[in-house]
Amino acid sequence: MAQKIDLHTHSTASDGIYSPTDLLHLAQQAQIGTLALTDHDTTDGVVEAAAAAAALNIDFIPGIEINTDVSGGEVHMLGYFLEYEQPAFQNILKVLREARILRGQRMVELLNAEGVEISWARVRELAQGAVGRPHVAKALMEAGYVQSIGEAFDKYIGKGCPAYVPRYKLTPLDAVHLITSANGLPVIAHPIGLPGLVELRKWLPELTSAGLVGLETYYGPYTPEEEQQLRTLADEYDLIPTGGTDFHGPGIHPTQLGGRHVPVEAVERLKAEAAKRHGRIPPRFELPAPVEEK
Ligand SMILES: [Zn+2]
Ligand SMILES: [Zn+2]
Repeated sequence: MAQKIDLHTHSTASDGIYSPTDLLHLAQQAQIGTLALTDHDTTDGVVEAAAAAAALNIDFIPGIEINTDVSGGEVHMLGYFLEYEQPAFQNILKVLREARILRGQRMVELLNAEGVEISWARVRELAQGAVGRPHVAKALMEAGYVQSIGEAFDKYIGKGCPAYVPRYKLTPLDAVHLITSANGLPVIAHPIGLPGLVELRKWLPELTSAGLVGLETYYGPYTPEEEQQLRTLADEYDLIPTGGTDFHGPGIHPTQLGGRHVPVEAVERLKAEAAKRHGRIPPRFELPAPVEEK
């Protein structure tokens, strides 16, 4: 049986449920031959994941997922085959994570003002790393205010809710530049949805000339029609159709680890592209000053 591929997963280094080592053990059980770890705004899980992958004979790709803001929604940018140990790159990630922490803290303050008693200390404990909204959601569940992560987003921390706090802004182009500053390969994550393919089409020329290499096409819940639309778009811009499940743990995303077919060609093309970029002097990246929305 051909081995499975999953190029979009999260661990406890960001908002996943499983440690990098546990994630790799699950990958082995799921007969995954190639796995990328793409935690939000951090590569802190990559060293542990790489060691576990080597022990289990799984082909491992160091990755990241950077959240960016556009009018009308968010765009997530995956980065693959990063030279993640570069100090300038790590410094920028640290600034981004600190911005996230401030956001999490503000959400807790707003919840407290609403009479919801969860503590920032507990949220940080639950995160054990980069703090994200799922950790606030978990604290809400644990304290009995909601029954599920989804309900926490619907009632308290989703857009338009009492404790929603906007993110610090990074554009998709910033994320492409950030990833290429570590000689990584930028790929737009789950491109369908907000802000939609029409908007996306407008940005693709600029993003591809800045170094974008792929579109996440074989994504967890996408229908065959959506997959086809994205394959067509990828072909048009000579982008690599990649794929993965966005696995965070049970009950967060509907697709199980390795549960979406990703063609081996996606990995082969990424590797060929990585070989061209690695070892070169990367372009420098300057983080734009953080500006809070509203
Ligand atoms: Zn995402
Ligand atoms: Zn993700």
